[in-house]
Amino acid sequence: MREPILLTPGPLTTTLATKTAMLTDWGSWDSSFNALTASVCRDLLAIAGGQASHVCVPLQGSGTFAVEAAIANLVPKTGKLLVLVNGAYGKRMAQIAQYLGRACCVYDTADDTPPSPDTLARLLEEDPAISHVGLIHCETSTGILNPLAELAAVVHAAGRRLVVDAMSSFAALPIDVVALHIDALIASSNKCLEGVPGMGFVIVNRDSLLASRGNSHSLALDLLAQYDYLQATGQWRFTPPTHVLAALRSALDQYLAEGGQPARLARYQANADLLVRSMRAAGFEPFLPDTLQAPIIVTFHAPRHPAYQFAEFYAAVRAQGFVLYPGKLTEQDTFRVGCIGAIDAAEIQQACAAIGRAVSQLGWTI
Ligand SMILES: *Cc1c(COP(=O)(O)O)cnc(C)c1O
Repeated sequence: MREPILLTPGPLTTTLATKTAMLTDWGSWDSSFNALTASVCRDLLAIAGGQASHVCVPLQGSGTFAVEAAIANLVPKTGKLLVLVNGAYGKRMAQIAQYLGRACCVYDTADDTPPSPDTLARLLEEDPAISHVGLIHCETSTGILNPLAELAAVVHAAGRRLVVDAMSSFAALPIDVVALHIDALIASSNKCLEGVPGMGFVIVNRDSLLASRGNSHSLALDLLAQYDYLQATGQWRFTPPTHVLAALRSALDQYLAEGGQPARLARYQANADLLVRSMRAAGFEPFLPDTLQAPIIVTFHAPRHPAYQFAEFYAAVRAQGFVLYPGKLTEQDTFRVGCIGAIDAAEIQQACAAIGRAVSQLGWTI
């Protein structure tokens, strides 16, 4: 039996090469490990197009640690963050601001509704205290793609700064931090880069980072302190996730060999298209219209059978070697299927067949 295929938004299925890259023990003081850190940061920065103006600061932990670090450093104690919320990760960013004691307001839209650039412009005009806008590029809780370029233009025109949680889109969808005037972009090792979990990173405007001294409430999450130490020593401030970084180096090599962002997007888009087509043919309806759907993760309405339970459905699909993801909507019964990871048409086809068999085994009509 092969190991299960993860149809989840990270951790996700990685290649054998990425896994075997973790078979070496690295000393955190060793110059070869410092070179690994530098090369990974250089490549991540290049993917974002930020070599001239931005820096890449890696951080131990999951993606949320990096979001919290970015907000803590960049939004000063006298600043105010407006978060555009249409799902759980937007809510989380606002919650982070509240934890940190930063002034915060939200522009809330429904789970299937992207924020409107016009409304954003009005909100920024009405409240001059707002210094920063927080946006989730692909809101992974549904898979909706928010209109980054249009919203970024509004934020720039209003003279405010933009912080983008691009956790589930970075490296697959094109993002140019310079063209879009993005102050900080946050992502992690274990989503579209197809590494393993354990580190996040912030691609941040160098001037904004250098101006953030004293802002962070946290010793461990102080991005500027991490950057200063890396600059001075080539080393992470505290124990680095050595194996995670080595796996990410390998994943980046594979990413570049595959053809970089356009090739990654093409594979994910083909996965998403095939998934939606096959699931529709089996009677399942996606929650989002195709025009709002990012090729990252797709939310489907659950079978309408009265006996439907996600746990049972999950187990029946898992028994066939595929791992689904629960829905994250409070009002409607849904489940999610990821399109990202080291998977292509073969795995998507097999997964859809497994889902079809699970539904008939359980006797649910759709
Ligand atoms: C995965 C993800 C995060 C971070 O989640 P962690 O569980 O902390 O890694 C943040 N934002 C979005 C949009 C995500 O998809």
